[in-house]
Amino acid sequence: MNFIPYGRQDINAADVAAVVETLQSDWLTQGPAIERFERAIADYCGADHGVAVNSATSALHIACLALGLGPGKRLWTSPNTFVASANCALYCGAKVDFVDIEFDTGNMSVAALAEKLQRAERQGALPDILVPVHFAGQPCDMPAISGLAERYGFRIIEDASHAIGARYGDERVGCGKYADITVFSFHPVKIITTAEGGMALTNSPELAAAMRRLRSHGITREAAEMEGPSEGAWYYQQVELGFNYRMTDIQAALGMSQLQRLDEFVARRNLLAARYDRLLADLPVGRPALRPPMTSAWHLYVVHAPDGARRRLFDAMRAANIGVNVHYIPVHLQPYYRKRGFKPGDFPEAERHYAAAISLPLFPGLSEADQDRVAAVLAASLKQENS
Ligand SMILES: *Cc1c(COP(=O)(O)O)cnc(C)c1O
Repeated sequence: MNFIPYGRQDINAADVAAVVETLQSDWLTQGPAIERFERAIADYCGADHGVAVNSATSALHIACLALGLGPGKRLWTSPNTFVASANCALYCGAKVDFVDIEFDTGNMSVAALAEKLQRAERQGALPDILVPVHFAGQPCDMPAISGLAERYGFRIIEDASHAIGARYGDERVGCGKYADITVFSFHPVKIITTAEGGMALTNSPELAAAMRRLRSHGITREAAEMEGPSEGAWYYQQVELGFNYRMTDIQAALGMSQLQRLDEFVARRNLLAARYDRLLADLPVGRPALRPPMTSAWHLYVVHAPDGARRRLFDAMRAANIGVNVHYIPVHLQPYYRKRGFKPGDFPEAERHYAAAISLPLFPGLSEADQDRVAAVLAASLKQENS
């Protein structure tokens, strides 16, 4: 039996041709394809500015810096995420803390957030930045979260690494209605890919300019951003400490080509998710919840195994050549974070989710026959579990 991975990129002949064409052009590093890709993603999402970088991790880092995160400041995120959503705070020397999730969506709980904000206000320890994570491709309740941001005065970076192509009702994720900055990942398992790569979207020209400087050493060639007059056409200034986080034109050309099929990918993922819902309807597993009017890009389809059965189910499916995975080990339980004072029990819903979660294979190239096999193996493994 063939191995079915949990996620896989979908590269076609047009993608290959776009990369080859760029390789034969005058630009390999950040050049005209980057600007085209930034414009196209920003237009697709309904945002004013896009800043392409070499990963979503880099995008999160420069988004935090552009919003002024630094020592003495605080960032809160979800424990049910990849470590990068929290690490960006530590890169900036800031403090990090977490807000527990809703078990059935895996997204940050607005009730837990509201309660934690009340407590933090009394203690004079409100966050400066909140990073909600659109788990599995479904947006968090951003109208409610942005309402809390207005009331308590924090800024929002959406970690939409899973969620390009998803909507909060009428608007697309990334439109900037509910967040200062939205970050996408173009890692191969995500919705569209540039191999490694990411992008930050914003409607603020100042934040966009700051992120453009930070991705390229803190250097500017804009006279308006310089201290004193320009000394000539060759002149540039380093006005702050930045990095080399640039995306290449080769990657941007791949991303531009992938973007042509984004809607197709999201539609296929939605179809497969609905199919899983039907195939698993009679099994004793928890299925992922959707919260209309939100729509999901369906990066992941995560089921909850019956109590205590996750490990054996996971092993049985792997033994049957099904590449299941687990999203996520709660960030606060990582050794690095435990050393910073976090411990089991701190975020019980995220821990309960982790104890039961199994990510089933989901990607545009997953055939319905292979999906049927995944469901059949899951059903057989659950039966064995009960006998
Ligand atoms: C993949 C991912 C990242 C990191 O993306 P890279 O492009 O690999 O740096 C960050 N946050 C979440 C939620 C992710 O899934």
